[in-house]
Amino acid sequence: LSFIDFKDVWLAYNDELFAAGQFAVEAIDLQVGAGEFIAIVGPSGCGKSTFMKLATGLRMPSRGRIAIGGQPVTGPLKISGMAFQAPSLLPWRTTLDNVLLPLEIVEPYRSSFKARRKEYAERARALLRKVGLGGYEDKFPWQLSGGMQQRASICRALIHEPRMLLLDEPFGALDAFTREELWCILRDLWAEQRFNVILVTHDLRESVFLADTVYVMSKSPGRFVVKREIDLPRP
Ligand code: ADP
Ligand code: ADP
Repeated sequence: LSFIDFKDVWLAYNDELFAAGQFAVEAIDLQVGAGEFIAIVGPSGCGKSTFMKLATGLRMPSRGRIAIGGQPVTGPLKISGMAFQAPSLLPWRTTLDNVLLPLEIVEPYRSSFKARRKEYAERARALLRKVGLGGYEDKFPWQLSGGMQQRASICRALIHEPRMLLLDEPFGALDAFTREELWCILRDLWAEQRFNVILVTHDLRESVFLADTVYVMSKSPGRFVVKREIDLPRP
C-alpha cells in the first residue's frame, strides 16, 4: 500500500485556464511507499511547486484523486512539514521559539502547548543538537549564518513529527560545503525517523545522493507530467 497516491491528477489554477485546457500539471500518476525519499527534478515552470501544493492539500485537483496515508486529501495536511529555499525564520523569535512554532499552532499540540512547553522545548533542543545547533537556541535569526538558519528551518519542519517532509530547493542558497553537510544531516534524520520526503531540487547530484527514486518532471507542449524514473544506486 502506498503512502502517497496520485491517480490521474490534473490541476488548472482557475476556471478560465481549465476551460482553455491549460493545466499546470497533467495526468500525474505517482505511488510512493511509506518512508520513501523521492526527489523531483525538472525545469522552471514544469509544475514542481504545483505538485507540492497538491501533496499538502493546499490545492485540490481539477481532476483525479489524491490520497496520503490512505486518506483522501480534502484540505491542508497537518501531517506534513515544509522547508523552502529561504529559511524564513521569524526575526523577532529566537531559534528555539522558531522551531517550536508548529507546536504552538498545529493540533493536537496547540491545546497543550502552554502546559507542556518544557517538554516540547526539550524536544526542540534535542533536534537542534542533531543538526549541530546546540548552543544557538537563544540566538535570533540575524545572529546565525544562512546555513545555520536553514538547519533551524529543517528542525521547525520536523518538530511536530510529520509523516511527510516537503523540501523545495532547501539547500539552493548554500555554499557547496554547507550543502553537503546538510545532505548528510538530512539523511541521518531520515534514516532514524523514516518520514516520507519529497525533495524538489535543480541539483541532480543532490537528488541522486539523497533520494531513493528521482523523478524527472517534464514540460512537453502544454503538458506537465511526472515522466521518467531514474533508478540510480546510492553512494
Ligand atoms: P515549477 O515549480 O516547476 O517552476 P509551477 O508549479 O510553479 O512550476 O508552475 C507550473 C505552471 O503553472 C506554470 O506554467 C506556471 O506559470 C503555472 N502557475 C503556477 N502558479 C500559478 C497560479 N497561481 N496561477 C496560474 N498559473 C500558475
Ligand atoms: P554558512 O551558511 O555561512 O556556510 P554554516 O552554517 O556552515 O555557515 O556555519 C559554519 C560554522 O561557522 C558554524 O558551525 C558556526 O560555528 C560558525 N558560524 C557561522 N556564522 C556564525 C555566527 N553568526 N555566529 C556564530 N558562529 C557562526
